[in-house]
Amino acid sequence: MKAGFEYVFQNYIYVPIVSAIIGVIFSMFIPNFIIWGCKKIKNVISKSIDVIDISGKWNSFFHEGELLQSELVELKQEGQKVIGEISLGNRKYLMNAEFKNQILIGTYVSENRKKDERGTIVLRRINEQLLSGFCTFVYKDKQVYSSPYVLTYYSYHNAKKGTYSFCNNCVGRFDCCCNCNKIDMPIILPMEAEKIESVSRKAISEFAKKKTNNLYQMKRENDDDKKGCIFYVNNKCSIYDYRPIDCRLFPFDFKEIDGEYWLIYYNSIDICRALPTDINEIRNYAHSIRPLLDMLLPYMSECSDPIFCERLEKQNFVKLYTIKSLKEDITSKT
Ligand code: SF4
Ligand code: SF4
Repeated sequence: MKAGFEYVFQNYIYVPIVSAIIGVIFSMFIPNFIIWGCKKIKNVISKSIDVIDISGKWNSFFHEGELLQSELVELKQEGQKVIGEISLGNRKYLMNAEFKNQILIGTYVSENRKKDERGTIVLRRINEQLLSGFCTFVYKDKQVYSSPYVLTYYSYHNAKKGTYSFCNNCVGRFDCCCNCNKIDMPIILPMEAEKIESVSRKAISEFAKKKTNNLYQMKRENDDDKKGCIFYVNNKCSIYDYRPIDCRLFPFDFKEIDGEYWLIYYNSIDICRALPTDINEIRNYAHSIRPLLDMLLPYMSECSDPIFCERLEKQNFVKLYTIKSLKEDITSKT
């Protein structure tokens, strides 16, 4: 018996030793291996879910001081990285950006290095046709301005989706309009008017009236009959991909009530067909489109529509914030 034990001891002693060594090696590498595996899985998931290709041509809108500006932005995306070319008249800028937690954060510099012009861009994707955020412009190390920054897809996309994710639940989906035969006429920025003019082949004067040097408002098809916008055809917007930012905000709107401007939303099923009922959810949506609101804020006082004011009394709407508090909020965060 003893001889048998000695035989096993002498011939198989390496088994527990080798097992112990393998165990130590595994225990050293397994945590790293698990972390590596998790990262791989996360990358695969983020590639299939989070990464949204925004390559293509976009129109931007921003305030350059008092001036409302628009530029052409051409983006190319690879994974989370985005590079771009920005053309503003004969000024050209190169952009470098990266998606971090669904937010695109980047910088741009003048193509002409001698000019020392650069800035930052932060954008959130609202949907396939709309990115919104903020930009800054720095000249010789001094910030000249910061502005809301909105990008709308340049070429015809035919996506026909509303602006918000709740629009995916909309009855009669993809034919949404701002229901302009029931509510106010949208305001139109000059660049938007020019774009609509070129795609609709209608002169601006046929579809819009000039409110100020820098702003138009959509005309009603027939003021006496109180019909809506001329592009509202067969219960649809016929220029949906080119509709103004004010239309994209729908069912949110700005309104003057008792001498004060308010951000409101329409909560009638006749007007918006899939609006959430939870007020906090609605506030989150309002927050996500803040740069669009900021873009239009400077023009608010010029856009009352007497026909709408009369009709507003009959609509169900909910007041969210006064524009004053929204402006204060914006100032405190910039
Ligand atoms: S009606 Fe409301 S839910 Fe439907 S697409 Fe328009 S904004 Fe979205
Ligand atoms: S452009 Fe389209 S969404 Fe805007 S008011 Fe006219 S029909 Fe409605």
